[in-house]
Order: sequence, then structure tokens, then C-alpha cells
Amino acid sequence: MARIAVVEDEADIRETLALALGREGHQAESYRDGAEALLGFRQKVPDLVLLDWMLPGLSGIDLLRILRNDARFARVAVVMLTARATEVDAVAALGQGADDYVVKPFRTRELLARVKAVLRRYSADQGQGDSVRRIGGLWLEPATYRAGSEKGAFDLTPTEFKLLEMLMRHPGRVFTRGQVLQTLWPDDKAVEDRAVDVHVARLREKMGDSGKAIETVRGVGYRLKDSA
Ligand code: CA
Repeated sequence: MARIAVVEDEADIRETLALALGREGHQAESYRDGAEALLGFRQKVPDLVLLDWMLPGLSGIDLLRILRNDARFARVAVVMLTARATEVDAVAALGQGADDYVVKPFRTRELLARVKAVLRRYSADQGQGDSVRRIGGLWLEPATYRAGSEKGAFDLTPTEFKLLEMLMRHPGRVFTRGQVLQTLWPDDKAVEDRAVDVHVARLREKMGDSGKAIETVRGVGYRLKDSA
């Protein structure tokens, strides 16, 4: 059971979703626009947001950007609902930190399956805390700052470790260079995007064959393959 916010200006879709989520045992909160949603989220942080792209006023992608730049909402999963099925939009949504997106018109059952998958990913992440994380052939041990593959530990600097940890905590999610900078050097505004590329290149090199698991998403940033 999760607290799920539905941000959608079309009443039919909003009500259908709220009802379906309720039947699944979730606590659903409905919002008609981004500003109303943001007010609500500040009172009660949702576990997951179903976020329509085209909203009056603040757009869905604007709201997503606000959420991803606010530490209070760092643990909020976001699934975008979009009528725009182009590749560019998908990349933009994932590039801004959406966990998944669903193209309208969608079947409610399909959407619920996506919601379930995203929630599972987040709860697995939470449950693991400081324990060893494993994705494909990679492992990472936050407590000791060590990471490696089945072939052995990588020789990583603290920055490279943090970079890999960030990617491994959210497999599949695309991180923009800006988001990487925020996480690795929150207090240093002088570090440039180029530094991210340099650290990723070094990390990949140290990972050997496993380095292929870190994918470049052109024009956006980096992500770890979901099933690395
Ligand atoms: Ca809409």
C-alpha cells in the first residue's frame, strides 16, 4: 500500500485512476493542476506521483523538475502520463528524472502494473539501506565504500564510488550532468559538466568489461542498464 498522487486535469482519467488505485489498496490523492499538487505534496509527501504532462499552468515536466531539485522529494517516484509518444519526449521525461512514462491512451491495468514495478524498485532500494546492493554482475557495499564485479573489487576514488552508487540506487533512471554535479559536489558551483564526463570515463575504465553497464543517453546524461 502506497500514497499515490494523481495529477491530471481531465476529470474522467483522474477519477478512473483514483478509483482503480483505491481498489488496489493504495491511498490516492487527486490534483487538477501542478500548483495544487505542489501545495499538497508539501503537506504530505507522496510515495509515487502519476503526473500528466499537459496541465494548465505549471506543466507536468515543470513540476517534475521542481520535485527533482528538492531534497524533500528525493524518495518520490514519478510516472509521467503523456499523449506525446515521440522519442524526444520520452528522453526529456526520463532525463528530468521520471522513473517511467505511459503513453495515452493507456489501459488502467497496464498503468497499475507499471506503478507496481516502480514501487517495487523503490521499496527494494529502501529495504537495502546500507547492505550490499547487487545489479546484474555488479555489487556495491555502501558501508565499506567498495564496489566490484564477479571478477573482483574496483579500485575507485570516493567520487567514483559515489557516482556508481548514485547510478546503482536507481537502475534505469537517467541522470543529467546537472543532477550528477548536484549529488557529487553540492557546494561547489564552479565544477563544470565536463567534469562529470571525465569521472564517468574513468569509472568505466576501472570497471573493465562491466563499464558497458553505464550507458550514455545522448544529449541528456547517463544511466545504469536496468539489468546490467
Ligand atoms: Ca492533460
